[in-house]
Amino acid sequence: MLQDIYPAQLKIEYESKKPYEGAALIAFNGENALLRQDNDEFFLPCVSEFYEYREKMRFLFKINDEDFFLLDLDDECPVPDGCCFKDMQYFRRAKPQYKAFAVVTALHINKFYTSCRYCGGCAAKLKHSESERAMCCPSCGRTFYPQIAPSIIVAVTDGDRLLLTKYNSAHNAYKKYTLVAGYCETGESAEQTVRREVMEEVGLRVKNIRYYKSQPWGFTGTLLLGYFAELDGSDKVTVDESELSRAQWFSRSEIPKSDSDISLTNEMIEYFRNN
Ligand SMILES: [Zn+2]
Repeated sequence: MLQDIYPAQLKIEYESKKPYEGAALIAFNGENALLRQDNDEFFLPCVSEFYEYREKMRFLFKINDEDFFLLDLDDECPVPDGCCFKDMQYFRRAKPQYKAFAVVTALHINKFYTSCRYCGGCAAKLKHSESERAMCCPSCGRTFYPQIAPSIIVAVTDGDRLLLTKYNSAHNAYKKYTLVAGYCETGESAEQTVRREVMEEVGLRVKNIRYYKSQPWGFTGTLLLGYFAELDGSDKVTVDESELSRAQWFSRSEIPKSDSDISLTNEMIEYFRNN
């Protein structure tokens, strides 16, 4: 999965650290990140290439002992020689993977900083906390933290069969087979979300809900929780056409091959195929 970068290790702990010339910089223009490409690899720019913007830079995290800093650019910023912007789809396959994971995680953090500039309580301009990754209101004292939306992915199984779905293109641009998924609603446990989403999307009941693994998914600011669940009762699928274009049972030997290896969805499909 995208976050499986061992032996590299993300150290997300916040440090009140100032940018310095040799450090790596993740610079965004909207949801596009700046980089240089060389053959199959990409390289991030250095803080030194944008040193005049250093007051706008924020410490992000470390990977191993390498510091990463964040800069939100606008269209008027110069693009250094050899650099180009890439949208987030690029980072699903980009190498090295630990840097792709760094960029996607930085996107999530950048969305927090760019959308949390004024206090939601009193409308005063917020300030950066010096001690944690948070924005503080100097007027009323409220503190705002990055938002992470929990959501579930569920592999519905029936003996040798797995239920795969495809999104309705008007709802989601992802075109390949996927699993039932959805956001946790207020007041729900993750297991209740599993039951509700399966019923809403495909009209099935499930039992024996078992947790598998989780995945931080910075593309959408989500924490994905993966579950396996067994069909309980009728296998007749009723597709919610507002979200899905189809839902279909596949036996292990019939499950379509996928060439993506970064997503929890894909890992769960492969886990079912091979176990
Ligand atoms: Zn306030």
